[in-house]
Amino acid sequence: MRTIYFDNNATTKVAEQVFEEIHPHFCELYGNPSSMHTFGGQIGRKIRQAREQVANLLGCDPGEIVFTSGGTESDNMAIKGALTAQPNKRTIITTRVEHPAVLTVCRDLESHGYTVVELNVDKEGLLDLDELEDQLDDDTALVTIMYANNETGVIFPIDEIAELVADKGAIFHTDAVQAVGKIPLNLSKSNIDLLSLSGHKLHGPKGVGVLYVRKGTRLSPLMLGGHQEAGRRAGTENVPGIVGMGKACELAVENFKAENNKVKSLRDKLERAILKECPDSRLNGDPENRLPNTTNISFEYIEGEAILLMLDQYGICASSGSACTSGSLEPSHVLRAMGVPFTAAHGSIRFSLSRYNTEEEVDFTIEKLPPIINQLRELSPFVTKNA
Ligand code: PLP
Repeated sequence: MRTIYFDNNATTKVAEQVFEEIHPHFCELYGNPSSMHTFGGQIGRKIRQAREQVANLLGCDPGEIVFTSGGTESDNMAIKGALTAQPNKRTIITTRVEHPAVLTVCRDLESHGYTVVELNVDKEGLLDLDELEDQLDDDTALVTIMYANNETGVIFPIDEIAELVADKGAIFHTDAVQAVGKIPLNLSKSNIDLLSLSGHKLHGPKGVGVLYVRKGTRLSPLMLGGHQEAGRRAGTENVPGIVGMGKACELAVENFKAENNKVKSLRDKLERAILKECPDSRLNGDPENRLPNTTNISFEYIEGEAILLMLDQYGICASSGSACTSGSLEPSHVLRAMGVPFTAAHGSIRFSLSRYNTEEEVDFTIEKLPPIINQLRELSPFVTKNA
């Protein structure tokens, strides 16, 4: 059975061109870039090239790029590094809809004596910037707010937020793991101090990420040891990962406009048809300020997991917002924060597309999904059946 992959916010296919670049770095060009000999030394050039490719996508200086092991490490490094560098300040501001790579870190810091403010979102998933302004004070060490939400695709006004934070003298970090490659970024024109990205979300390999650190930002390293990454992140470099990350960023620059236009038009077609053909379905998140590849739709009175299992029988991969914890399915914290009713939050499905999806895949899904929804509704104990 073929696979129709609509789960690109979870991870993406490695681009063939990326794989070709990575391949020689396992069995041929395997030297350590810190070695004195030419064999190892030549790898240093590859890392410099990758740093330039990433910087070109972000619109920043290559010296501001630190390679890490992924989005989670970049988020941890940004948050903990910014706090350690400013020991006199004890408050962190974040939002209720962050990825666990941010939210769990902040909540852990709260248990170690920091004050953590979690900003609310409205029913469209948008922030109230007045609330942020009210919360900012002299004790604010760090504001960490995601660029775009992984579940709904909702985009926050990050440049505006960065300006507010800069005016108060706090450090501003954004988790841009889902945004990079999907919306235009130009860090040279923004007040963002720290920005996280992850290779496997933009057709690069898993296990590699980047933390952008604006020149002059106070940040203590998380990993101590060797002098790699100019002393900002110790550990022998993941050369294949870094080379692949660089190539993935180069491809994202090259294909940016055409790719995102195509993806958006496929996403819109899928979304329109689902909302039309499936009764009691609703879109979650602001329809305008959204990533071009993501749609999050709730189907009232049915479990998202049941829909996923039935889609899976046709090879269609999507995801639901629920997390299975201790046997009970908890609805997503993002949808709960948006006030999505319990019955709708339980039946939410995220479709996230990429450059590799086709119109034919979208048509196939549009054909298969409405009967699945009808079938599950027939079985649902929550649906009142009229006599
Ligand atoms: N931040 C966001 C918004 C994400 O969507 C993810 C992954 O799903 C991460 C961070 C974690 O990135 P990684 O898987 O590279 O650790």
